[in-house]
Amino acid sequence: MFKKLEKLNRPYLIAGPCSVETKEQLFECAKSLVETGKIDVFRAGIWKPRTRPGNFEGTDIQGLIWLSEVREKYKIPVITEVATPKHVEKVLTANIDMLWIGARTTSNPFSVNEIAQALKGVDIPIFVKNPTNPDLQLWIGAIERLENVNIKQIAAIHRGFFPYEPTTLRNIPKWEIVIELKTLMPDLLIFCDPSHISGSTEKIAEISQYALDIMMDGLMIEVHPEPSKAKTDAKQQLSPLEYSSIIDNLSYRNQFEDTIPSNLEKWRLQIDSIDFQLLELLGQRHEISKKIAAEKKILNYAPFQIERWKTIIKTRQEYACKLGLSEEYVSKLLQIIHKESINIQNQQMVEAKNKII
Ligand code: PEP
Ligand code: MN
Repeated sequence: MFKKLEKLNRPYLIAGPCSVETKEQLFECAKSLVETGKIDVFRAGIWKPRTRPGNFEGTDIQGLIWLSEVREKYKIPVITEVATPKHVEKVLTANIDMLWIGARTTSNPFSVNEIAQALKGVDIPIFVKNPTNPDLQLWIGAIERLENVNIKQIAAIHRGFFPYEPTTLRNIPKWEIVIELKTLMPDLLIFCDPSHISGSTEKIAEISQYALDIMMDGLMIEVHPEPSKAKTDAKQQLSPLEYSSIIDNLSYRNQFEDTIPSNLEKWRLQIDSIDFQLLELLGQRHEISKKIAAEKKILNYAPFQIERWKTIIKTRQEYACKLGLSEEYVSKLLQIIHKESINIQNQQMVEAKNKII
């Protein structure tokens, strides 16, 4: 059963357990998901090399056999992860419909090349997860390696990036990278994996909605019949019931049609005008920074003056607060503006010094 990878007029839904554990677990999961009617493709990991050795590492060929039985019984396309050419060979023999390349594998061009070679002449959808570090070029590189062997159906999956410091999320989403990828490759379908971003069940709804709000094309969500007993990623797997309710509560908003509603058109024009005014003002600020740099040079003052910086932050935040802008937003913005101003001043000081020497 071959399912084409295509843009739907609703989120494309991939769901299923993190790992194939037992035949019962797999069939129960598939049955309840198919019964929800909210699934396009059933996912399950066969090989689970864990961060540290000594844990459950997957079910290999046995799992693949169960997965292809699920496919036959429930008439649903299935997808699993491949990390080596051997995996590709086994998966193709088992008639698995689609494959994904995991985050750790995408990070390694040697591995992606080997997988791409093993996929030569194959025409099934291949999903490429983002690499573990936020390197868009590496992500695009993996996609290009597949394109180079003539793979036609490719999609990307955003599963967040590894944060070294503990955060409330398991992997940090970088939506700006997703938007950049969409801009560079407009025909590429991009999915979101809120399960690996969240690392727990609480944030899955919110992250899924965010993904749909930036027009991502689909979701890949981990679902387990008894999440607390899962052998991998127990904290982040949803029960089928929880999954169903999250999907029911998502809103899928439209891209603009050919004609943009008149109010939006009007506000967009206003935003355009304001953006150009902001740029004009930044240009003026830039010129003044240059004058300050020249003066500081004469007076032999350092470009960065801590007291001045504190006053800038304090007064601007107070002002911004009255306008309903958050302190965090304004302070980030000011940091960028102020850094640029210091750079200009530093640059001029260096140039002036070079001239003297
Ligand atoms: C998975 O989807 O189960 C998985 C291992 O994902 P990732 O490669 O994103 O860590
Ligand atoms: Mn997982």
